[in-house]
Amino acid sequence: MNGACDPQTAALLEHPALAGPVTVVLAHADVLARGAVRRAELSVQPPERLRRLRAHARRVRRARSQAETRYKKERARRTGRTRPADPLELRAARAAYPHAFGEALRHELRAHGLPDGTPDAPESDLAEWAWQRRTAGDELPAPVRELLDCDDDTFVDALLRDAREEENPHLTHDAVAERWNRHARTALAWGRYAVGKAEQHVLTGPLSLRRARLDALDDAQQDTAVLAARAREAQLKVLDLRDRMRACVTTGPVADLVARCRAAALARFADAEPEAWQYVRELVAAHRADCPERTGGCPHCHHHLAAGLTGTDPDDDHPDADTAPEDRYALLADLPDTAVVAVADAALDDDTARCGHGWAAEDGTTGHGDSFASSSGEAEIIGACTAALDLLERHEDVPVVVLCDSTQAVRVLDAVLHSGEPAAEQRALLFPESRELVDRLLPHRHRVQVRWLKGHIGHDLNETADALARLALRRAAGRISASAARREETRILRALDADAAAGLRTAA
Ligand SMILES: [Zn+2]
Repeated sequence: MNGACDPQTAALLEHPALAGPVTVVLAHADVLARGAVRRAELSVQPPERLRRLRAHARRVRRARSQAETRYKKERARRTGRTRPADPLELRAARAAYPHAFGEALRHELRAHGLPDGTPDAPESDLAEWAWQRRTAGDELPAPVRELLDCDDDTFVDALLRDAREEENPHLTHDAVAERWNRHARTALAWGRYAVGKAEQHVLTGPLSLRRARLDALDDAQQDTAVLAARAREAQLKVLDLRDRMRACVTTGPVADLVARCRAAALARFADAEPEAWQYVRELVAAHRADCPERTGGCPHCHHHLAAGLTGTDPDDDHPDADTAPEDRYALLADLPDTAVVAVADAALDDDTARCGHGWAAEDGTTGHGDSFASSSGEAEIIGACTAALDLLERHEDVPVVVLCDSTQAVRVLDAVLHSGEPAAEQRALLFPESRELVDRLLPHRHRVQVRWLKGHIGHDLNETADALARLALRRAAGRISASAARREETRILRALDADAAAGLRTAA
């Protein structure tokens, strides 16, 4: 990455077998490089040193994304050649008539004692089935059994110990890999939480303690770097496992059996849909006559053939998902007249799990603050809850409506407010900060609604909430002084025109 190693080592690093491991190492280096920048910002450093650290962090980031691209290519190359392509007629029929062909295939799979998957994807269960048959009867080591049987919180604790104390060799066991990968992001979020807390200590503590607290921040960043590397390892492990599972059905006796099922399914399809089948054969014959890729077996041509068969254009994108301007506020048209309405927004720092949130209400009030969140969804939940709690306190006996532009936050809060039960949304409400806010909101749940509002479309309240959230994050991270933050806040509020503030429902 620095261009500083000898040519022999550089050549070795290009070896295909290292494409995955290199991404793990760079995930680790990325966290450390950005952490070094942050520590330098928080201690007073000469500008030249800060500039060098930032340049280094950018270089690591770039190297990391290049390594990820190389790994993807390498994996595609490795897995792409494992299975001989089905005949073009079969691929075209399957792509053009997925329902009829799928029905025929499920029939054949069932007749041969194979699992018949879902109506949309008859072959979806095959790899897992073949894998389980191959590994059936394998005795699992006791520590592996323990990792599989413990509850989620205990498992995440094991991941934190793995990163902070001693590497757990059983995590890489095939039987644990899926679970490891699923929870590695949660463990990483807790690492970032610790970094955020350590940063807060540096910023709020007396200058005399700054050096010791910067060391503590360094420790938290080191742990998080290991968590990031382990999370990447878990991903690689699962991808590798899935490739090996798939290989079970693309090679050997199971592959032959599946190929026979496919061929029989095609015959069954031809019987059931003679006209469609005739059409497929004519089109494929005409295509073969002049396709430049015919010597290679036309590996991708079935997409175009299927489009020709069903009369759709594969290059035609889905209809524009953007809603018309008059639809943007359609959701608000049914708001009760007495409701007080606020728009909330949030901003998240990926490195520290710290978030800023802000809101602006129709009654002209605004608010902002900072907290901790494991995802942008959790940050938005914190913003929406804070806004709702403030309105509830100031307005008695009227409905409170909070609008936010995160569909995840709306879905989670909707579910929690309806059921009165936050436990079901445990994964979205990871940190104590969000859970505490939701607990405070629950007693008022019959008076609160959270709705989705399309974000960043120039709506005044939304713009104000967004600007306040970003300001709160910069303020919390010590990137802007208290006096500069106050001036900035004044500017944001001045921009929020008093007439426009009341215009939310006029737009509806
Ligand atoms: Zn072709």
